[in-house]
Amino acid sequence: MPIVLFNNIEGSFPSSLITLVKIALTHLGHLGQLALANVRGFIFRRTLDAGRDTNDEAEKPRAASAPPESVVPVSVNYHFTRRCNYKCGFCFHTAISSFVLPLEEAKRGLRMLQEAGMQKVNFSGGEPFLEQRGRLLGEMVRFCKETLGLPSVSIVSNGSLITEEWFQTYGEWLDILAVSCDSFDEATNRAIGRHAPRSHHLDKLYQISEWCARYRVAFKINTVVNTHNWQEDMADQILDLNPCRWKVFQCLLIGGENCGEDSLRHAETFVVTDEQFRSFLDRHSRVECLVPESNEKMRDSYLILDERMRFLDCTRGRKEPSRSILDVGVANAICASGFDEVMFRKRGGVYQWSKNDIMEW
Ligand code: SF4
Repeated sequence: MPIVLFNNIEGSFPSSLITLVKIALTHLGHLGQLALANVRGFIFRRTLDAGRDTNDEAEKPRAASAPPESVVPVSVNYHFTRRCNYKCGFCFHTAISSFVLPLEEAKRGLRMLQEAGMQKVNFSGGEPFLEQRGRLLGEMVRFCKETLGLPSVSIVSNGSLITEEWFQTYGEWLDILAVSCDSFDEATNRAIGRHAPRSHHLDKLYQISEWCARYRVAFKINTVVNTHNWQEDMADQILDLNPCRWKVFQCLLIGGENCGEDSLRHAETFVVTDEQFRSFLDRHSRVECLVPESNEKMRDSYLILDERMRFLDCTRGRKEPSRSILDVGVANAICASGFDEVMFRKRGGVYQWSKNDIMEW
C-alpha cells in the first residue's frame, strides 16, 4: 500500500477526487484506515480551541491572517520513565527524574491522545520494563490496544528485564518490540555501557527474538552508531535474527541529557562523523530491513512525551518541555513540541505498524 502517496494528495487534486479516494480507502480495511489517518493527520490542520494559554512564549497566538493550527499526534513516543538499569555513555534520555505517573493518570493522557488522533504509541524510557517489573508497561499496552483500539502499540527496551511470563500475560496486545543492540561483541557492549551485572545482552537478544515469534509480536532491533561500533559488520547476525525492521541511528548530542555541564552523560567521545555513519550504512547495504536515521532526520521528527506527559522540543539542541497535556490538553501542549512533520514523513515515520500487516504468522 503506497501510504506515502496520500500524504500530499489533498493539496494537489480537486476535492471531489479526494472524496472518491477516501471512499475507496474505507473499503481497503485497516491499511485504508491508516492512509485516511495520514490524510486527516497531515493534511487537515485543526484549529485550536479558544482559551489557550498565551503566557507561554511558545504558545502565543498567531496573527489573524494565520489562524492557530495544531498537528495531529498520529505517532507518539511516551517516555514514561527515565530510570534505567544500563549506563550507555551516549544515552539521550537520562535519569534526571524518577517521577512516574500513576497508571490511571497515564491512561487519562493516553485517551486524550487517542481522541486527538493518535494511531501509534511507542513506550520507551529509560527502561520501560523496570517499573513494577513490567506490570505498569503491560497494563498501558493492554489499555491502548484493548480499550483504545490503537492500530499500533510498540515498545523500545534494552531487553535485559523482559521475561517469558510478560509475553504470556501481555504479548497479545503488543504489535512491535524493539530491542537495542549496538554490537555483537560483548566487550564492545560493555565499553558502551550497554550491559548490567549478571545480564548477557546478546543471549537475551536471541531469547527475545524467539519469544516474539512464539507470542506473535513483531521483532525489531535498534542500533546507535558510535565511535565504538562504527567499523563493525553486524550484517550476518542481523540477517540471522531477521527483525522486521532494523533502525540505525547516528549518535546524537542533546544538551542537558548527554552533553553540557548539567548533563548526566557526556557523549562527545561517542559521536561519529557523517562519513563514518555513511560507511556503516554502506557496509550493511545488503540488509533490506535497515532504516537509517541521521542526526538531521532524528532531531525534531519525533513527538516525544516525557514522564509528566509534556512534549519535548529539541529544536534548540536541548529537550525543552511544554506544559503537560494533562493540564492544558493535547492541542495546547503540542504547540510547544517543535515537531517537524515534514521530516517525520521524509524519514518514513508512517509505515505498516500493526503486527498483522507486518508479519505472516
Ligand atoms: S538502555 Fe542505555 S540508552 Fe537506553 S535508556 Fe538505558 S542507559 Fe539510556
